Parts: sequence; C-alpha cells; structure tokens
Amino acid sequence: MNIAVIGGGIAGLVAAWQLSRRHAVTLFERQAVPGFIASSVALNDTPSGLRIDVPLRVFYPGYYPTLTRLYAELGVATDPVDYATTFTDGEGRAYFRWRNARLGAWSLPYVLPQDVASAQGRRIVQGALHFQGRARAALADGGLGAASIGEFVAAERIAPEFVEGLLLPAVATIGTCSREDARAYPAAVIADYAAAGVARQSVRRARDGADAVAAKLMAGITRVQCSAGVVAVWSRRGGGPPPPPPPPPAAEKVVVQRSTGEEAFDHVVFATQANQALTLLVDAAPDETAALAAFRYRALEVMMHSDTALMPARRADWSPVNARVCAEHGHPESTIWINRVQPGLRDAAPLFQTVMPQSLPRDDSIIGHARFERPLVDAGSAGALASLKQLHAQPGRRVWWCGSYAEAGVPLLESAVRSALAVAAQVESCAARSLAGP
Ligand SMILES: Cc1cc2nc3c(=O)[nH]c(=O)nc-3n(C[C@H](O)[C@H](O)[C@H](O)COP(=O)(O)OP(=O)(O)OC[C@H]3O[C@@H](n4cnc5c(N)ncnc54)[C@H](O)[C@@H]3O)c2cc1C
Repeated sequence: MNIAVIGGGIAGLVAAWQLSRRHAVTLFERQAVPGFIASSVALNDTPSGLRIDVPLRVFYPGYYPTLTRLYAELGVATDPVDYATTFTDGEGRAYFRWRNARLGAWSLPYVLPQDVASAQGRRIVQGALHFQGRARAALADGGLGAASIGEFVAAERIAPEFVEGLLLPAVATIGTCSREDARAYPAAVIADYAAAGVARQSVRRARDGADAVAAKLMAGITRVQCSAGVVAVWSRRGGGPPPPPPPPPAAEKVVVQRSTGEEAFDHVVFATQANQALTLLVDAAPDETAALAAFRYRALEVMMHSDTALMPARRADWSPVNARVCAEHGHPESTIWINRVQPGLRDAAPLFQTVMPQSLPRDDSIIGHARFERPLVDAGSAGALASLKQLHAQPGRRVWWCGSYAEAGVPLLESAVRSALAVAAQVESCAARSLAGP
C-alpha cells in the first residue's frame, strides 16, 4: 500500500519506520528536519560541534517498556543520568533537595540532614511518605477512580508543604504544564507513574541524543520529505468547512495537499498534535472533530543559555535539575544543568536548559530558544481517548492518528511510540483484510 505519515516527531518516525517494512511510506514533515530533532542546538565552540537535544528527553525503563524495546531493537545506546533535584523559592533559596545514589541500574533517592533542615523540608518528607502509602493502598483497593490528584490529596489530608512544594511542581515539570493543570491530572495516572519504579531506577537518555535515534529510524523509511508542510487532507466528498476540497480522485483514496500539489494515498496517518490534525482534515466527520477537539494543549518555551541567575542562588545548592517554585507564577520553572547530564561538557563553562522560564535569561547568554505545546491530561482525556479508539475501530478506516496524546498515561516518548506502533498494527490488519478480499 501507499501510505502517508504526516509529522516527523518520534511518533511519526516510528509509525513510518514500522510501516515501511512492508509498504511504500512517505513521511511529510513541515520543518527542515524531522520535528523530533528540529530544535536541537549545535555548540559551535566544542571541538566536535556537540549538539544538545531541546528538549532534553529522558526516560525510566519501568515506565517506558515500549521505548526501551524500540531502542534495543534499533541498537540505540543509552546511559544513566543523574536527575537529582533542588527546589527553590522565587528568590532562588533552596527549601528541599534530593540526591541520587547510583548502584548499577538502580538509583536510590536520599536526602542529607541539611537538605531538610527547615520545617518545610521535614514536612515535605513526611508528606511524601504519607502520599506514597495512601496512593499504594488506594491502588491496591482497586484504583483511584476518576479523582484528580488535587481531589485525592485533599481527601487524604496530605501535608500542603509536600503538595504545593514538591508534588504539584514535579507533576507540572513532567507534564510541562501549570500548577492548576497538574492539580487536574487524574490521580490514577500519577500513581501509575510512581508505581512504575521511577523512584528507584536511574533516569536514562540516548547516549548520542535524539539525532542518532532519528537517523536510525529514517534509514528504514521509504521516503522522507522535509520542508513539506501539509496544508489539507480529505477523503470524502463535500461536507468540509470552506474552502470546499476538490473531489477525491478515487473513492478509496485519501488526498494529501501541499502548497506544491496533491498526492493520493491508501492510508494517511496523522502524527501531528491532535489540534493540528483537526485543522488539516478539512472534511472531518462530526465524531472525528469532536474526538480531536477534546485534546487540549498548553504552550511553553524552552531556553538554552548560560545565565547562572536562573540557578539556585547558592552554587552549593545546584543540582542537575533545579525547580523554582513561587506563588506569583502559575507554573514551576525548571533548569537543567547540562554539564551534569552531558558527559562531553562536564568541565566546560556552565550551560543550562530552562523549561517554562519565569524570568528571561540575559540576552547575551541565550544560545537557543524553542516553543512547544504539550497535551493536558485531565478528567476529559479518558473520554477523548475512548472516542479515538472507537474511530480507529470503524470499518473501512483510512485516516489514523498517533502521538504522545493518543495513549493513556503521561504524554511522553512512551505513549508516542506505543500509539505509533498500535496504529501501524491497525493499518497492517486493514492491509491484510483487503488482500484477503470480501
Ligand atoms: C520541555 C519538554 C520536555 C520534555 N521532556 C521529556 C522527557 O524528558 N521524556 C519524555 O519521554 N518526553 C518528554 N517530553 C515529551 C516528548 O518530547 C513528547 O511527548 C514527544 O516528543 C511527542 O512526540 P510526537 O511525535 O507525539 O509529537 P510532536 O513531536 O509534536 O510531532 C509532531 C510533528 O508534526 C509536525 N507537523 C505539524 N504540522 C504539520 C504539517 N501541517 N505538515 C507536516 N508536518 C507537520 C511537527 O513539525 C512535528 O514534527 C518533553 C516535552 C517538552 C515540551
């Protein structure tokens, strides 16, 4: 079959790579290189012209079984990374810190007495233990139902110092969202994340970065078209919003339109964000529009820079990850000390990646800047996922959707890869059915 995949994030790369084993696949990406690596920054003053992933993506094998298997199959080497974290107030004063003791694949978090010297620090530790116990018990009792994490901690009377000072900032950092978005996360999603052993395993990342992952996937894709933004997709006659799409060339094809012309495919896989797919599919049926519109996104910025003002005020408090939490800002700022996570830069001048900055780094310290959108997860997400699954189960389907938003859990590399492989399997079974005939 002739298949188009729209979008070269990790989901699109994986869907196109998997489908290329047996079909002619064209991957369309609007940026000059696949979106998965489009925001990486090259450091010109390093001998090797080292590139830094933006954003810097890490994973825990326990929560990422599909990604772990994929990297093993591709031969992507991964290394453990120290992701110990300092939490500071708006002035950069540390109020809590956890460190990492690494033992092979294990990584045990611990705190030193000075990390919890304040009453707030001690309440955070007590709250963390209380939360862990209650979440584990609730999971064992048959789940957490539809409660949000905010509702769960209120009902369980978990210490506010832990909730506001650690739990919500941590969820907002993992989900790259605001504190209120984090409060609306389903408690079950957070409990599952915590239960996957993330507190005991080392965070890992691809040794040679996203570039190496993308190169291995691209090598297996029939045709990769970059700087090839799709402007419209349609599969049926009429019914779409203006301007009305021209009629399809054949009843059983899906048309992909770019500024340079049109091509017809047997199947089209959207691997863009859901909100982007919604604007592209000009003849979406009402159930398709409703399902895609139910996924909501939050915009955010990531800065690469060398401004130490965004780090904890005392150098002794610097960790590989530094979260700044204050009431005036609805979202935590997190700054990764790149020298601590990128082996080639250990002795180089300080270099930072700040996600959701509360204040901008000095102009002359900025090395790169990128904007992203991240799906939100809340009570409505489960319904949206169920609708998407129903669409995918419709007979005769030729338009599909995958991406980090399209599977349950925190929208991360794991859900993106899982959804890509699931859609590829469904397209395959359509191909098998059409070969078998009526
Ligand atoms: C700051 C930050 C930190 C993160 N950290 C981690 C982490 O540590 N670990 C982790 O697992 N995950 C992390 N994530 C999440 C992870 O990066 C995403 O879940 C994942 O990359 C999403 O991949 P995707 O393929 O679903 O979507 P996307 O990467 O959004 O891919 C969509 C693609 O579609 C393309 N596209 C859009 N419109 C068109 C069009 N009209 N025509 C052609 N192409 C189009 C886009 O250019 C893009 O390449 C982080 C995200 C952010 C923002």
